[in-house]
Amino acid sequence: MLAQGGIAVALSENDDWQSHFSDTLMAGVEHNRRDTTEILVKEGPAAVNELIQDGLLFDRRADDTDFQYGLEGAHSFPRILHCLGDQTGKVMTSFLQAQLAEQPQVTWIEEAMVTELLLEPTATKRTDEHADFPAANATTRCIGLRYLEERSGQLGTLTADAVVLATGGLGGLFPLTTNDATITGDGMALALRAGLALKDMEFIQFHPTLLTKNNRCYGLISEAVRGAGARLIDETGRALMAGRHPLGDLAPRDIVARELTAAYDNGHQVFLDIQPVQDFEQHFPQITANLDRQQIPFRQTRRIPVRPGAHFMMGGIAVDTWGQTALAGLYAVGETACTGVHGANRLASNSLLECVVFGKRVAEQLLHTASAQAAATERPASVAPPFILPPRRLLQQKCWQHLGIRRSSDSLQHLLSWLAQFHYRQLPATYTKKQLECANLCLVAETAAKAALLRQESLGAHAISQEKIPL
Ligand SMILES: Cc1cc2nc3c(=O)[nH]c(=O)nc-3n(C[C@H](O)[C@H](O)[C@H](O)COP(=O)(O)OP(=O)(O)OC[C@H]3O[C@@H](n4cnc5c(N)ncnc54)[C@H](O)[C@@H]3O)c2cc1C
Repeated sequence: MLAQGGIAVALSENDDWQSHFSDTLMAGVEHNRRDTTEILVKEGPAAVNELIQDGLLFDRRADDTDFQYGLEGAHSFPRILHCLGDQTGKVMTSFLQAQLAEQPQVTWIEEAMVTELLLEPTATKRTDEHADFPAANATTRCIGLRYLEERSGQLGTLTADAVVLATGGLGGLFPLTTNDATITGDGMALALRAGLALKDMEFIQFHPTLLTKNNRCYGLISEAVRGAGARLIDETGRALMAGRHPLGDLAPRDIVARELTAAYDNGHQVFLDIQPVQDFEQHFPQITANLDRQQIPFRQTRRIPVRPGAHFMMGGIAVDTWGQTALAGLYAVGETACTGVHGANRLASNSLLECVVFGKRVAEQLLHTASAQAAATERPASVAPPFILPPRRLLQQKCWQHLGIRRSSDSLQHLLSWLAQFHYRQLPATYTKKQLECANLCLVAETAAKAALLRQESLGAHAISQEKIPL
């Protein structure tokens, strides 16, 4: 719903998938899985064309001869399709939801938090035809889930032939994030509690330009604004990216985020100078409305106050090329999954494409999966001790300091020792939604810190600092 910039796809006549492929690998520092990345950029045009044929309206040029392709950081070609200027996520999500709403067999349960996966021992082999992922957990399969009704506080149970996790990333781990408040690493924690391993958890993308006021984030200022000419400056007007990278203000996000953090830590304020952007209000109506809501005097100053913050998770639940996890019956798609297409750092606007391409693949895979005819099982009463959790704000500050834009072995170790005093791994008999969210955040923080500790050298979004980080 919140995605602003658009969806990257090599659709234009002069563009090709090979160029999109090499830009994706370059941003991901070649840590990307090549097979899934190739699927992403090769199948992307057909998947997006299907949406267009179904009636999804992307912005077109004023003379209506073609789409209006935007340029974003680290893309060598303008290939970003967008809807209503900066409302791509909202338009695409609403479009797909409306298609689902027409299906009589679809039942929506809203304001409910999935709390647990139902597992069943099995002697049978997985039936999915395409799976190329080694079945790590051949003796168990996922047969459904439990959820907490947020209004009534009641627990519900659903059994299913297949469960698809699409619960987003882990932005809630940090004090400044672009993510919605519901994004607390739940899918990854569900997978961990079901015995699955997560992959590439050290790679968390920090976006350079969050709109900030009084140390709080009030949304994102899309990279498309820099694509349209805006520059990053400090309070004196000094261009912060000048001479720092050949792509200047449009350098990969991790590089820009680190430069801005260094400027901020040295006592400077950071702004986006929108003087060079023509017709800013017209091109970025949603951002303009948000700036007005937050009473930012950008019309007079032509400056927007920004700071880096958590934005996107490259790692997650390991899946195969069809979205299948190592647990039979369990699939994952979108930000909670790790298809490996983003490598060590995501290329701008590749994540909506990942959702579309791999969402479609999961659906195709499900059509090939035989019905498992699951039976509802009663959960034995939990014997796990009650949660003992840190205040969420403190957890976020610790994660920013030790698992954020700069890390060191000492600092990661410090975070792990600090986490060790709490109980968050196993589900106790009773808990509230807020407690479970915090427990999930602790669990994914531990997993990400361990992964970061194992990678001693900087790569992409994972930056090991040579300077001492205060403990
Ligand atoms: C501000 C912003 C701007 C962005 N701009 C772009 C862009 O221009 N282009 C691009 O390609 N990408 C962009 N991204 C990234 C992209 O939007 C996400 O990667 C993508 O939306 C992920 O989709 P998803 O379905 O995996 O998760 P989400 O869209 O995050 O959806 C996850 C859903 O799961 C729900 N949920 C979470 N936990 C539970 C639970 N336990 N039980 C039940 N429900 C749960 C959440 O409430 C949410 O509704 C942007 C992201 C943000 C935050």
